Amino acid sequence: MAKPDSTRVLLVATTTGYQIRSFGEAADKLGVRLVFASDRCDQLEDPWWDEAIPVRFHDEPRSVDAVVSACGGAPPRGIVAVGDRPAVLAARLARAFGLPGHPPEAAATSRNKLATRRALQAAGLPTPRFVSMPVEGDAHGLAGGVQYPAVIKPLALSGSRGVVRVDTAAEFIDAFDRLRRLLQARDVRMERDQTHGQALVEDFIPGTEYAIEALLDHGTLQWLALFDKPDPLDGPFFEETIYCTPSAAPPEQQQRLVAAVAAASAAIGLHHGPVHAECRISGDTIYVLEVAARPIGGLCSRALRFRRGPKASGGSDAVVSLEEVLLRHALGEDVSSYVRERAASGVMMIPIPRRGVYRRVDGVDEAKLVAGVEDVRITAKPDATLVPLPEGKSYLGFIFARADKAGAVDRALRGAHARLRFVIDREVPVAI
Ligand code: ADP
Ligand code: CA
Repeated sequence: MAKPDSTRVLLVATTTGYQIRSFGEAADKLGVRLVFASDRCDQLEDPWWDEAIPVRFHDEPRSVDAVVSACGGAPPRGIVAVGDRPAVLAARLARAFGLPGHPPEAAATSRNKLATRRALQAAGLPTPRFVSMPVEGDAHGLAGGVQYPAVIKPLALSGSRGVVRVDTAAEFIDAFDRLRRLLQARDVRMERDQTHGQALVEDFIPGTEYAIEALLDHGTLQWLALFDKPDPLDGPFFEETIYCTPSAAPPEQQQRLVAAVAAASAAIGLHHGPVHAECRISGDTIYVLEVAARPIGGLCSRALRFRRGPKASGGSDAVVSLEEVLLRHALGEDVSSYVRERAASGVMMIPIPRRGVYRRVDGVDEAKLVAGVEDVRITAKPDATLVPLPEGKSYLGFIFARADKAGAVDRALRGAHARLRFVIDREVPVAI
């Protein structure tokens, strides 16, 4: 392979939003150029995208070839990825270029909920009992064999899409049917992912949930943030809503959560790069529900800021974004001295309350005035049809807050949300 190109970093992504811009800003600051590999090349405008490389996430071998040849055979200095499918392609590219990364097999395992369960089980780690079944199967016949309460879910969607708690056989039959229809939706079929032909059914694990943002450095886990998810997530659908950090969990429990994520990452085979994990504490047991081989998604990463500490040993008070920390890591820098800022911080993903046509929202200015609130970002587009969970895959928007203590952040987020009044009209049936 040709000499590495020390000026270029490859960014693999499906989106064109906030996280991409944030990587772009970090790249400008660090004096490297981002080269974008995406299936959305037609939607890019900014100057960075001069040399964007078109890829197709469902055709990884050809996409790898396309990127290697577009780079003239010269490895970039590093690779970063945004999103679940890009993370798998990025892992393949890292291997093709001989760069450190997650092994492609491990990235693929982490994206597949059934493969993840199997990996955790094989390593002797706590995992709900699980069974997979074809979505074309006979729901009535299958319902009798399920232990309730259970959770039914697709193998490779995200954002709780298609995830439903079922307490009875009748609920199972409904949810199964709903999941089959969801997996036949156009946007899901377009992914051409054969795992979309299966459903996973597993024990419902009661308990409190946490999310962990971390980096693996040649197999060693450095945790960046531990988020509480203070709203009960008992189903039947699992809207994320609030993420708040630092966690209110006792330090000993926080250490156990981090250790559980490290063990699960190792069981999956993840090795080098960002991870985002979700865990439940149920009684005395920590269940790692998922370890994604990518950073926290979209706008949520705005809730995280880092500084180099401690000052005495050359640290600094200047805050940097999660994307900057990840980019530095991808460039081979030692980022172990980066710690999250002192302030408590949180984000609310504003759930879609019901199906309908979004018209407008009132009260944004009032919400922004709530003490601790830093920003309110409405992402729903006027006149768009809103689809709630379990079929939906978007939020109305995001609220960000910072304060001295996590409790104040939580109150700020809820206070701001209470001031927002969304106007959602009923859908007008289309005349045939
Ligand atoms: P996704 O990748 O779409 O986020 P997950 O499997 O992580 O799918 O499930 C989404 C949410 O559903 C979890 O964060 C959790 O709150 C809930 N959930 C999923 N599986 C279980 C389970 N076995 N027991 C209890 N809750 C679950
Ligand atoms: Ca998840």
